[in-house]
Amino acid sequence: MFGLFRKHKPVKIRSRNENTKYGVAAKDVKELLKKGCKLLQLPSSDAHVCLYADGTKVTEEFFPTLPDNTELVVLCRDQTWSGVVCDLGQLLSTDRHADGLIEAAKGLLSDEQTPKRRKILMDLLLNLEDRSELESREEHEDWFTGVDARFKTKSAYMKFNCESRIRGYMKEVDGATKTIQKAKVREEFLKTSKSLAQMVKTARHNGCYFDRTEKQPDRLCTQEGWFTCQGSYEQKVCQSLHSINPYGSRESRIVFSTWNLDHRIEKKRTIIPALLEALQNHKSSDINLNYFYRLLFTRENLKLVHIVCHKKGAHNLLCDTNEMFRRASDSEKQKVKGKRRRLV
Ligand SMILES: [Zn+2]
Ligand SMILES: [Zn+2]
Repeated sequence: MFGLFRKHKPVKIRSRNENTKYGVAAKDVKELLKKGCKLLQLPSSDAHVCLYADGTKVTEEFFPTLPDNTELVVLCRDQTWSGVVCDLGQLLSTDRHADGLIEAAKGLLSDEQTPKRRKILMDLLLNLEDRSELESREEHEDWFTGVDARFKTKSAYMKFNCESRIRGYMKEVDGATKTIQKAKVREEFLKTSKSLAQMVKTARHNGCYFDRTEKQPDRLCTQEGWFTCQGSYEQKVCQSLHSINPYGSRESRIVFSTWNLDHRIEKKRTIIPALLEALQNHKSSDINLNYFYRLLFTRENLKLVHIVCHKKGAHNLLCDTNEMFRRASDSEKQKVKGKRRRLV
């Protein structure tokens, strides 16, 4: 009887998993839960309610003190709510509200003054505006701004981007020829470098690493185009969980150019000098070309890293001297193979 005279308090309720809000008026928590569970289609046994803002449990004593239209979350059984941060999970897991979020973020950004909040909003927008599902130039013209007209698809461009990096490494090997004084050594080095160039060409400059249309072990990214930092040369994984999808937007494509294919055993400090050293008293045909090829141009020794995980100091990792030269048995096999080929 007493309760009848109590004022009904208007509040806004929502469930944990849906962010649709409902306006409800109730005289106490008991009534609120009854109405709320029905509205939100939640089981009413063990239901409870808390503040949307910070997860504070709303008790019968607390309820009358709430301001009108307070936002509340109705929870069932063992569900918990730790406040607005819970919404982050929703924000990231759903594409449904992407357009609304973009609008909201743009609106906030337009009159945001603090650099820190601006940065957060800009990053959010950049990620929300991910259009990685688009592939062709016609579909996503903005992505191709400044990209040579011969590239019709994102994958073709990304493949070329990787090829260019690998070509760059080959050029560096070539460039080392000039530093050699002894004519004999230079000649052998030139032979070696030519053979390596041929191997790289056969592997199509490993452009597959950046091409999302390639099969799994060949590409370094997911089917959608997400690349994950592989961590600096001395780490197993990236502690910062760096990731990027250069297929998503023009900005991400450009930022991706700061990501590096880092040689674990270093190209300039270690591999090229080791090759030069080996040729001082060996012929090109004694060299285990496959070993040097793998070190210089393949993911066996390359790690894709975010610029922060690209450590510039010496890596102090050496080439394996047992691998640098062809073993006698290898050369024999090579000869046999060669003969067979000639016979055919
Ligand atoms: Zn990293
Ligand atoms: Zn490096």
